[in-house]
Amino acid sequence: MKITLIAGARPNFIKIAPIIRAIEKNNLTSGKKIDYRLVHTGQHYDDKLSKVFFEQLNIPEAHVNLGAGSGTQAEQTGKIMVEFERDLSAHPTDLVVVVGDVTSTMACTIVAKKMNTKVAHVEGGIRSFDMAMPEEINRMVTDSLADYFFTTSEVANQNLRHNGVKEERIFFVGNTMIDTLNANLSRAFKPQLWDKNKLDSKRYGVLTLHRPSNVDDPEKFAHWMQLLDEKAAMPLIFPVHPRTLKNFATLVQKPKNIITCDPLSYLEFIYLIKEAKVVITDSGGVQEETTVLGVPCITLRNNTERPETITFGTNEMTGDSYDLLIDSLTKLNYGQWKKGTIPPKWDGKTSERIVRILTSIS
Ligand code: UDP
Repeated sequence: MKITLIAGARPNFIKIAPIIRAIEKNNLTSGKKIDYRLVHTGQHYDDKLSKVFFEQLNIPEAHVNLGAGSGTQAEQTGKIMVEFERDLSAHPTDLVVVVGDVTSTMACTIVAKKMNTKVAHVEGGIRSFDMAMPEEINRMVTDSLADYFFTTSEVANQNLRHNGVKEERIFFVGNTMIDTLNANLSRAFKPQLWDKNKLDSKRYGVLTLHRPSNVDDPEKFAHWMQLLDEKAAMPLIFPVHPRTLKNFATLVQKPKNIITCDPLSYLEFIYLIKEAKVVITDSGGVQEETTVLGVPCITLRNNTERPETITFGTNEMTGDSYDLLIDSLTKLNYGQWKKGTIPPKWDGKTSERIVRILTSIS
């Protein structure tokens, strides 16, 4: 069976690494070989968001890089579609596998389906129901076209059923991001900033913010910075996403307790969140990782497409409410955070399940 695997952005690389490993293992042990072609769309091209993940996670070099680069939503979508159509015409395949919810996920799904090629969506079915999020549109379009869905939760299965997806196309397999986390925890290492800032385990927090709703409005972003700087009562390490950089640079009042750095490599970042007292974030993947690590997570969003991190895990959503954020920080500092459990099938074996299913549907 021939498959084409699509990856374009930082969280995609983390999700595809274990799928490739499981394919390679399958090809050594099973008669049903999978011949894969890895397509990097070039959506994230900065070494700190791309190259370092290939190196640390031993992802083989992509067969092609479509060089999509930056641009508006439409520009990126258009560039990826034009280039992927060319690539798929030259290299036809039995199945295109897309992961997550980035522009590349949606753009390559549209191209594949218009070329009569089947699509499987890893992380299908999750919904924030927030149409202001570009990722929600990517999820809805991808899931309205895909043929097979590899899901992370029962809630995702329900969302797909509500959309009329037949049961035989839904495969509840768990979470490939957690495969990567479990496989790499023992390799995680202290970032350089650890010693420089004299960090101690469980005495600092980690902050990540990159959603347009938090970082694009300079006033709102400045308010978050000021509030967190004053109320967190601990140093906060803030690896600044390229999207966030512009408005961080315009801050009139620079925070004193927020220590900024470039985006960290995966092995440094997971070390930092594993040892943190709290992680404050608007990332999707980080909500999942903190749940598995049992680290308190405060999500600065009004909705989450990953509700199991709240119902099972260590996540609390405080939305736009400064009061709720302060309540959560108070609870944390009094040691009253919920313990949480790991959601079903987030056990590090998801990619093996996916590959087993891929060989059976071919
Ligand atoms: N991450 C990283 N370095 C950082 C920040 C995040 O390696 O400086 C990892 C993190 O562990 C998670 C992924 O990047 O696996 C999340 O990516 P992001 O927040 O960009 O995307 P989202 O999950 O929100 O789509």
